[in-house]
Amino acid sequence: MIPPIVRTLPALRKATRNWHAQGDTIGVVPTMGALHDGHLSLVAAAKAACDRVIVTIFVNPKQFNQAADLAAYPRTEEADARKLERFAVDAVYAPDITQIYPEGFATNVSVTGMTDVLCGAHRPGHFDGVATVVTKLFTQTSADKAFFGEKDFQQLMVVQRMARDLDLPVDVIGCPTIREEDGLAMSSRNLLLSDRARVKAQHLSEVMTEVAGQLAQGVPFANVQADAVTKLDLAGFTSVDYFELRACTDLKLLDQPTEPARLFAAAWLAGVRLIDNIDVPVAR
Ligand code: AMP
Repeated sequence: MIPPIVRTLPALRKATRNWHAQGDTIGVVPTMGALHDGHLSLVAAAKAACDRVIVTIFVNPKQFNQAADLAAYPRTEEADARKLERFAVDAVYAPDITQIYPEGFATNVSVTGMTDVLCGAHRPGHFDGVATVVTKLFTQTSADKAFFGEKDFQQLMVVQRMARDLDLPVDVIGCPTIREEDGLAMSSRNLLLSDRARVKAQHLSEVMTEVAGQLAQGVPFANVQADAVTKLDLAGFTSVDYFELRACTDLKLLDQPTEPARLFAAAWLAGVRLIDNIDVPVAR
């Protein structure tokens, strides 16, 4: 059965109150739609861990810092609902904008520190938009568990910090990045790539994997960073927002993976901003 699409908060609350009254746990998978197998892996994780699962679809204007990016964002709601059919999801919450930002809405949830770097530095206001909407989605769905992808690792950290700091009664769970066969991390934005650009896109994960291998052999990051950026330039990326090695715990810059670390990259290809991050084994 195609899951019911719920558009209003009162209708959502009616369902969630019943579920909690029956003693059912609720899992939520927040998305902006244009669902792919990465999203669906979160839905599968939620189904395995919770009695009831809500997938939210909301293209959140507050987290876009460019109007053109918001306008171009793919919207495929009907196909999304069909993709969720086989998971027996209990509800798709696709709220009208007034359910999230009613007239006069004046509150901002802002996580400091870890949002100063990476995407936070390049997309001003982005993580305030994320933290604000996710706070609302958590309180609106009254979810016990929430599932986020490591694909957006900084976002996962921001949401975990925010939930802890605000004592939100929800367990925020990170799930591994799902990739295409050629290594490209799945993303709704990949739909915006032409066939030619799509072929070039694989170089992002390719270069990252190569650098991770060099780091594992003890090569300092400073020795390989510039080369990696040049490789992306040559592969057709028009600019690289960042290509950095950072600690998993607090996102501080590292030159060697002396503690749990990840390589983080964001780069532009044919007008589309692609991001990725991969685990780097701790050097002995
Ligand atoms: P989005 O619709 O892009 O806002 O993503 C919704 C959720 O799906 C976020 O928690 C993302 O981190 C997660 N996600 C997106 N792409 C992937 C992927 N390739 N693998 C795993 N999770 C993903």
